[in-house]
Order: sequence, then C-alpha cells, then structure tokens
Amino acid sequence: MAGSPMIEKKVPMRRCVGCMQSKPKGELLRVTIGPEGLQIDQSGKMPGRGCYLCRNEACVQLALKKNAFGRNLKKDVSRQEAQRVAEEIAALSE
Ligand SMILES: [Zn+2]
Repeated sequence: MAGSPMIEKKVPMRRCVGCMQSKPKGELLRVTIGPEGLQIDQSGKMPGRGCYLCRNEACVQLALKKNAFGRNLKKDVSRQEAQRVAEEIAALSE
C-alpha cells in the first residue's frame, strides 16, 4: 500500500496593514487593541479585533503614516501610542 498522498496544507494568509501584501499568518505580527490601548499579540490568541503587520519597521512606519491601526481596529489610536508599538515591533525584529 502506498502511503497517504501528500496533502498540501493550507496556510492561512493575512494581509499586512503596512505594505498590504498577503503573507502566511505565522510571518506576521498580530496587533490588537485592549484596555490599555494598542498592543502586540505575541501569542496570536488575544481576543478582539486585530490587524497584522510584517515584522519590520518599514511596514510599521507605513502603517503609521496611513493611520492603518486606527482604521483597521476601528478605534482612535494616537500617534504616540502607534509610535510606542512601532518601537516595540522594531525591538522584536532586531
Ligand atoms: Zn508589510
């Protein structure tokens, strides 16, 4: 008997709110908004609305420029708050 045929596993794709490219979910960082404001969801399991971002500062800056966080999360995100998260992401991708 032949082994089971190779089943192509479907990788969930998500779109980066910075560069707008679709990438496998695992390559992106999830950002959510919680009681304390914008936060990076490193587990990918935090409740609430989330958006996805590449792990690089260029995309964070792009997202900042377009106010993508505010638009995608349907909340007002202050520039300082977005900047803080941008710095956290930059630190993560180092
Ligand atoms: Zn990107």
